Amino acid sequence: MEIEKASLKELSSAIKTKKISCFELANIFLKRIHEVNSILNAYIHVNEDVLNQAKQLDQNNNEKTNSKERLLFGIPLGIKDMLCTKGIPTTAASKILQNFIPPYDATVVKKIKDHGGLLLGKLNLDEFAMGSSNETSYFGVCKNPWDLTRVAGGSSGGSAAAQAAHLAAATIGTDTGGSIRQPAGFCNVVGLKPTYGRVSRFGIVAYASSLDQAGPMTNSVEDAAVMLEVISGQDPLDSTSSEKPVEKFSDNLARDLKGIKIGIIKEFHSDKIDPEVTKTFNLALENAKKLGAEIIEISIPMIEHSIPIYYLIASSEASSNLARYDGVKYGYRSEFKDLSSIDLDKFYSQTRSEGFGDEVKRRIMLGTYCLSSGYFDAYYKKACQVRRLLKNQFDEQFKSCDVILSPVTTSPAFKIGERIDDPLTMYLNDIFTVATNLAGLPGMSLPYGFSKNNLPIGVQLMAAPFQEKKMLDVANALEMTTNASKQMVTLS
Ligand code: GLN
Repeated sequence: MEIEKASLKELSSAIKTKKISCFELANIFLKRIHEVNSILNAYIHVNEDVLNQAKQLDQNNNEKTNSKERLLFGIPLGIKDMLCTKGIPTTAASKILQNFIPPYDATVVKKIKDHGGLLLGKLNLDEFAMGSSNETSYFGVCKNPWDLTRVAGGSSGGSAAAQAAHLAAATIGTDTGGSIRQPAGFCNVVGLKPTYGRVSRFGIVAYASSLDQAGPMTNSVEDAAVMLEVISGQDPLDSTSSEKPVEKFSDNLARDLKGIKIGIIKEFHSDKIDPEVTKTFNLALENAKKLGAEIIEISIPMIEHSIPIYYLIASSEASSNLARYDGVKYGYRSEFKDLSSIDLDKFYSQTRSEGFGDEVKRRIMLGTYCLSSGYFDAYYKKACQVRRLLKNQFDEQFKSCDVILSPVTTSPAFKIGERIDDPLTMYLNDIFTVATNLAGLPGMSLPYGFSKNNLPIGVQLMAAPFQEKKMLDVANALEMTTNASKQMVTLS
């Protein structure tokens, strides 16, 4: 069996039938991490103990402990370093959390472990998930395995690069404004952001609480469906998690699109889109039609405002969430020779000035400004009102279509260093992805083609809230019309 090409279901059945042991499988991935991680910088912490944990699972590999319900028994996974992992450092790629070791697991991590999944380590990201290129990480940029001079995307750059380079069987990312889908598109992997509330946020480092969701990054649509089954569900520890029952997302995935209406958003037409991205998108549309789908044009006028609304809301929530990093309870504290002679303001400001990077500080300042009295109504409140209008317009359009298809980004992966000094250009990169977070919808990125210089190009699907099954069905059928996700990266 070629491990790199095997699906999660195939790996799982190979383990259950003892064609391969948990130890052997973990060892294959761990070895590969040791060989290539120094090139990519995808993992920022490797869990060397994974082999012992795999050995223990091997001892328990019998029918009783390894029932059908344990979907990830012995399967080695990588987790974005934004999710708390008990006893394993969790840094959010920030100096301020450099030495933080959580005493508990995020619910997503707990669910993975309950299903028998193994943790290979923690994956690189933009600091506090703020960024689109992984360049704001305190631990350095993560490179794109398809072209080492380019970014892997962000903020879940490490999760995408590790998945593309086969440094895990599947990975977990988080998505507040596109952070799963954009790097997935840049690295040729499937990336799925669930409906807000589908997956518990408990134990995920909070960036913008009304937008954050965790989701899978995988080799295939079916694998994404399996992972979503594992991590979804109501959680008493997250009051915003939904009670809706978790579907068997990976059962009977569709193979055609008969009777499916696909919406394309009028406002997304633009001559600023790279022609190769447009070509890939048009190809996906043509193939969808061949599979029986009907294509209709829809209009969501408010979508034009999604970048400013997103950056106002996300920064405001971030400024509030990040207030907890004050050097008192946990995390980095500036070195003070004599604490008794330092006033509290100086204690906080020196610690925070040294602990946070530039992009995080920029957002804290913008967010604090938006929330301050006198400006709250004009900025934060207004942004929330426009957000509601945007959501209403999506709801209206989903009465006439099943899913929406769009590009993921305006161009393939850009060069490292190309945009980092120009925050506005970087923010505009999220033009196709932020609206789904603002409206709370599920969205996913599907590998669909390559540019002339061999850079991956994805397409994005969006669906109405809790319509993940429908979205995955469409993605599965579309996946059969391309061999993009079967292309293997070769790292020199
Ligand atoms: N690029 C966006 C930002 O910088 C999205 C990040 C995310 O989804 N975590 O906020």
